[in-house]
Amino acid sequence: MPSCREQAAQVRSLIPAEVELVAISKFHPAQKVQQAYEAGLRHFGESRANEFVAKAQELPHDIVWHFIGHLQTNKVRQILPHVSVIQSVDSLKLLKLIDAEAVRINRRIDVLLQVHVAREETKFGFSPEEIRELITPELIATLKGANIIGVMAMASNVDDNAVISRDFDEARRVFEELKAGVMAEKPDFRELSMGMSHDWPIAVEHGSTMVRIGTAIFGEREY
Ligand SMILES: *Cc1c(COP(=O)(O)O)cnc(C)c1O
Repeated sequence: MPSCREQAAQVRSLIPAEVELVAISKFHPAQKVQQAYEAGLRHFGESRANEFVAKAQELPHDIVWHFIGHLQTNKVRQILPHVSVIQSVDSLKLLKLIDAEAVRINRRIDVLLQVHVAREETKFGFSPEEIRELITPELIATLKGANIIGVMAMASNVDDNAVISRDFDEARRVFEELKAGVMAEKPDFRELSMGMSHDWPIAVEHGSTMVRIGTAIFGEREY
C-alpha cells in the first residue's frame, strides 16, 4: 500500500500544472492529510463542519482549506474563521449569510456557486436558470465579505463518458455566461471547479481549472 505522500505526488504529476489540485480529505485521518502535505499539496477540501474544524486546528496553518459539502446555515459561523474557499454555495440565503458573517469577523471568503448539472435529483446546487435569474449585478454589488471566484459542478455519477462530457459542458456554459456577463468586471472570477477521481481527465478537457480529488490520493473512504 503506497503512502498518501506517494499517491499525492503521483496524482499531482498527472494533472496539468495550471490546474489547481484540491485534495479531498473527508473521512480520512489528519495523519493522511499530513502525508499529502509533505508531498507539497496545500489545498485540501472537507465536507463536514465538525470534522473540518478539528483538522484545521490540528494541521499546518498554511493549508488552504476548501469547504465542498452542503453547508447548513447554522454551521457558517463555526467554519468561517478556518476556511479560505467555500465551493458549495447553493442558495442565495447561504451566500448572503457567508457575506454578512465574513464582514462581521473582518475576513474575505472566496466562494464558488455550485451549479446542478447532473441528472441525479439528489445533488445540491443552483440550476442554470436560477443562476441567470438570481445572480444579478445588484446582488453582486451588495457583497462585501463573499468574493465570488467561480463555479463548482459535479457530473452525473455514471460510466458513460458522453453523459459526463455533456454535464461538464453545461457547467462550462454557465461559467462562461457569468464571466462574459455579470462577472465581466471581476478579474477574480476565473475558477471552474470540476472533476473528481474518476472523471477529472474529462473535466480538464472541458475547461476545468480546479479538480477535487479524494479517493485517488487517500484511498476508499470508510463511512
Ligand atoms: C467527495 C467529493 C469529491 C472527491 O471525490 P473522489 O471520488 O473521492 O475523488 C469531490 N467533490 C465533492 C463535492 C465531493 O463531495
